[in-house]
Amino acid sequence: MIVGGWRPAEVVDVVDASSHARVLRVRVTDWPGNDAGQHIDIRLTAEDGYQAERSYSVGSYGAGDIIELAVDEVPDGEVSPYLVRDVAVGDQLEVKGPLGGYFVWRAGGVVPVQLIAGGSGIVPLRAIARAMSDAGVAASGRLLYFVRTPEDAIYRDELTRDAEAGGVPVTWAYTRGAPDGWQGRVGRLDDSGIAAASWRPDDEPLVFVCGPTRFVEHVADTLVRLGHPASSIRTERFGGA
Ligand SMILES: Cc1cc2nc3c(=O)[nH]c(=O)nc-3n(C[C@H](O)[C@H](O)[C@H](O)COP(=O)(O)OP(=O)(O)OC[C@H]3O[C@@H](n4cnc5c(N)ncnc54)[C@H](O)[C@@H]3O)c2cc1C
Repeated sequence: MIVGGWRPAEVVDVVDASSHARVLRVRVTDWPGNDAGQHIDIRLTAEDGYQAERSYSVGSYGAGDIIELAVDEVPDGEVSPYLVRDVAVGDQLEVKGPLGGYFVWRAGGVVPVQLIAGGSGIVPLRAIARAMSDAGVAASGRLLYFVRTPEDAIYRDELTRDAEAGGVPVTWAYTRGAPDGWQGRVGRLDDSGIAAASWRPDDEPLVFVCGPTRFVEHVADTLVRLGHPASSIRTERFGGA
């Protein structure tokens, strides 16, 4: 029985995504399916009854009772270290959702689409990129992904492979350290760097920006300065700096 919107869920797969992030696949009882970009709440209950709830984006979309999450560990955090280090196949969780109807893209929706992620902000944008590929409009998508170093990127191999196979093209932005042979700059991208990796305002893209709060605010301010109307920019903030 589903009580108060919380559904029982079981971890069915865990894969390291970086030294501090993991992809979790979770089977959710009676999952109704989700749109690309939506999130869930997870509730953990300790043996003494203490409960903690946090939000996590869904990296997968559509029907089926197994959803994909990707969690980046926040040092000193309460929930993310548990999900990244301790949770194991067979563990039980509780999940509420799918949640959110604004930060979503559906087949037949507006194109072109600009996706801009910082760190774990890639998760809902991964789902949108998947949905665009499945809808046959990947060429109308562009993804700009900010990571500290290549090793910090979640979905690194998948994004590269998909882009090479005709999926949404990816531009990498490295803020601390780049791969060997990297010709571009390392550090925060300035206005011209963001403009060069993005659809122009004249193309009238719908823009999705996701990541830590200060990252999202910086990118959204830049986009407005470049001429994108604020009404075309959708943001999702993950907390933290
Ligand atoms: C809609 C939504 C979707 C989200 N999706 C994801 C996702 O797909 N993957 C994911 O890894 N996280 C996601 N988050 C963030 C997630 O909900 C938690 O905030 C994060 O995992 C930290 O939880 P915690 O219990 O470990 O840290 P807490 O104990 O809550 O916080 C510890 C300290 O870390 C700071 N902090 C909190 N969150 C962050 C952060 N993201 N970065 C840096 N510092 C932070 C806090 O300010 C606090 O000082 C999402 C958040 C929202 C609102």
